[in-house]
Amino acid sequence: MPAPHDQLCGSSVLDERLDKRVDDMLATGLLDELRDFHRRYNQKKVAENSQDYQHGIFQSIGFKEFHEYLITEGKCTPETSNQLLKKGIEALKQVTKRYARKQNRWVKNRFLSRPGPGVPPVYGLEVSDISKWEESVLEPALEIVQSFIQGRKPAATPVKILCNETENKRSYHMCDLCDRIIIGDREWTAHMKSKSHLHQLKKRRKLDSDAFTTVESQSISPDCDKELKEKGSPRQNDEELKSSG
Ligand SMILES: [Zn+2]
Repeated sequence: MPAPHDQLCGSSVLDERLDKRVDDMLATGLLDELRDFHRRYNQKKVAENSQDYQHGIFQSIGFKEFHEYLITEGKCTPETSNQLLKKGIEALKQVTKRYARKQNRWVKNRFLSRPGPGVPPVYGLEVSDISKWEESVLEPALEIVQSFIQGRKPAATPVKILCNETENKRSYHMCDLCDRIIIGDREWTAHMKSKSHLHQLKKRRKLDSDAFTTVESQSISPDCDKELKEKGSPRQNDEELKSSG
């Protein structure tokens, strides 16, 4: 299934939109909802000091950020209460933006940095200008989905695969020698130096050089043979190319 994605939405446009989303939530009664939820499900826990913001519904964005405000409301000056409320709103805006960036990163990493087999093409849609929603988002998205259903190529071009190794922390590598898949660049470097890998490498080199010597010993001078062995056999070089590709 093709995946339309708003990767063209610049981060300032996105940030502004996310801040506005929080303001809209406040305008439509977020605080009453929070107070009610606090009274029903968290007040008792807080009194027993057994509140837990790491699990279940309590970890959701938009509740824990107002902890201080909710537990002190009516027990402190209106000024303090107002300050704590502002602090909560600011925190909510921050975590909302952080979460959106995380989602964007996830999509990029999953679909664009190291798309494995079965990953669909991703299409970028221009979502910055909401007034042009129909023609720049809805219609192109429907066209892409329609073309998928009908089994034809859509008019739009998919987003180019990034394949950025530095951004790609969880890249995966195939070690043909050990017949293993190694996840992550750091793990790959460690694997290349590991005992088991070096053992496989030694075994392969010996096998190759034995075969090489048997076939080529009569046509290659001893010096040249030595040099080739040090660099690794042509077969060995092929393997390295395949592994890093
Ligand atoms: Zn290996």
